[in-house]
This record gives sequence, C-alpha cells and structure tokens, in this order.
Amino acid sequence: MPETITEEVRAKRSAACLECGGCCKNVEVLLPRSFEEGADEKAREWMAARGFRVLEDPDGLIMQHYRVVIDIPCPHLSKQAPWTCDIYETRPAVCREFDGRKVQSVECKWEV
Ligand code: SF4
Ligand code: SF4
Repeated sequence: MPETITEEVRAKRSAACLECGGCCKNVEVLLPRSFEEGADEKAREWMAARGFRVLEDPDGLIMQHYRVVIDIPCPHLSKQAPWTCDIYETRPAVCREFDGRKVQSVECKWEV
C-alpha cells in the first residue's frame, strides 16, 4: 500500500533534503559479478582505478553483483548547501518518487 504523506511530513523531509542532498551527489548501480578465478581482484582493481566505490553486502542479498557508487553529482544539483535542483518543477519521475532511505551510500536524514 502506498505511503500517505502529510504536508507536515513533506515539509520536514524537504528541509532534510536541502541540508543533505545525498541522493543527487552520486549514482549507485549494480554491476554483474564474475566468479571466474581472479575476476574479483581484476574487477575491484578496475573499479578503484575509475574512482568507483564498492559497497559491501552485509546481508548477502546481491551476491551476483557489486553495488557500486560513482561519485558524480547530478548536473542539476546546486554547487553547495542548501542543496537544490535547478529543474525541480520538471525533475524526472524517479527523482519525485525516490526514497533516500533505500540508498546505502548515504545516511538519510528522513526521520518521518
Ligand atoms: S538521503 Fe534522504 S535526506 Fe538526503 S537527499 Fe536523499 S532523501 Fe533527502
Ligand atoms: S534532477 Fe534534480 S532531483 Fe534529480 S538527481 Fe538531479 S538534482 Fe537531484
């Protein structure tokens, strides 16, 4: 069942996002993993060279993949806090619907 969000909750979340901006500062993706001998070392070396960060998977839920963080901010994000979006009114649907609590690379400040 979809979450019902009151105006009060929306305002609190919005204030938290202006302070945090975490969702828009990087991209988290799943990359397929090879289990051939030596492949893990090679993949990790390549990702480190590209500046990608690999999040470990404490729950073992994504064993077939690497959860990779690419630290490239969205071009529409302001350059400093408060973190704003310069296409906010027409931002993509994914941005409108996104729940930052699902992102593992940032500590979401949503408490409500
Ligand atoms: S991580 Fe949470 S508080 Fe930060 S921008 Fe994303 S939704 Fe907002
Ligand atoms: S379009 Fe706006 S809301 Fe979406 S990632 Fe970029 S800055 Fe964030």
